[in-house]
Amino acid sequence: AFNIGRSLGGMARVYAVFSSAVGASERIFGLLEEVPEIEDHPEARPLDPVLGAVAFEEVSFGYGEDQSVLESVNFRCEPGEIVALAGPSGAGKTTLLSLIPRFYEVTGGRITIDGRDIRMIPQQQLRSFIAVVPQDIQLFGTTIRENIRYGRLEATDPEVEEAARLAQADGFIREHPDGYEARVGERGIKLSGGQRQRIAIARAILKQPRILLLDEATSSLDSESEAAVQLALGHLMKRCTTFVIAHRLSTIRDADTILVMEQGRILERGRHEQLMAQNGLYRRLHDIQFQEKLV
Ligand code: ADP
Ligand code: MG
Repeated sequence: AFNIGRSLGGMARVYAVFSSAVGASERIFGLLEEVPEIEDHPEARPLDPVLGAVAFEEVSFGYGEDQSVLESVNFRCEPGEIVALAGPSGAGKTTLLSLIPRFYEVTGGRITIDGRDIRMIPQQQLRSFIAVVPQDIQLFGTTIRENIRYGRLEATDPEVEEAARLAQADGFIREHPDGYEARVGERGIKLSGGQRQRIAIARAILKQPRILLLDEATSSLDSESEAAVQLALGHLMKRCTTFVIAHRLSTIRDADTILVMEQGRILERGRHEQLMAQNGLYRRLHDIQFQEKLV
């Protein structure tokens, strides 16, 4: 069972929203009816080109009427940058990411992409250039090939396989007697957490997004999987603006900006070294979370 809305991994609804294969996701997730119908503004028009600069301007948000989850969130990033979100559980990290694809509407302020208010970008285009790699990826009860192709339905077989190669998934797929035609599920191919993640990354690579929303796995992967996932992500992140809810020290260290959140606000921001030197919340979180890994 997923914990909907609490983690990007559980954001099946985002998946549904993103999907152009609405039928499939509807069947699998059965959640589409929960997606609030957001209408395009009559003057919404596609961005062309899409560069992927993202800005939050005085963004506030609450799920309910008098609940405040995000308050006065301000930041901007350039195309291709990596923005890591850190902060205690419940700080609003997942919520912040979910506003970018307009999974929920801001209550105040605005979010822009390349300077354009996202409410003025047709939803279909917005979905087409944002990819999500959730924590706990849900696969469909079909073949591995179709599971990857879900990233871009018109992709050819060689494109699917190339994406799998880049995502470090080709090897374990080919180890199965049925290869790409192996079915996922009880009597089909059994995948570890790290392998499922690489399938999600292959999907995202196929999609060629401008913006990537990534919720890193909290559960520890075995070290081989971990290295493979890092390599796979490297391919993907090179080409897009990345927002990552980071649980790994390596991701945090590479980020152009780390936003440290607490209770819906950005409390500290900067690069790893700067934040460590500040000796504040980030430093405390860091010392707790990464203790073992520093030894
Ligand atoms: P984080 O990702 O930093 O752990 P979240 O964005 O998941 O934080 O949660 C921020 C706050 O919003 C928490 O108080 C959480 O309980 C609340 N929240 C998250 N998702 C929902 C939801 N779908 N409906 C109502 N409240 C929610
Ligand atoms: Mg979260």
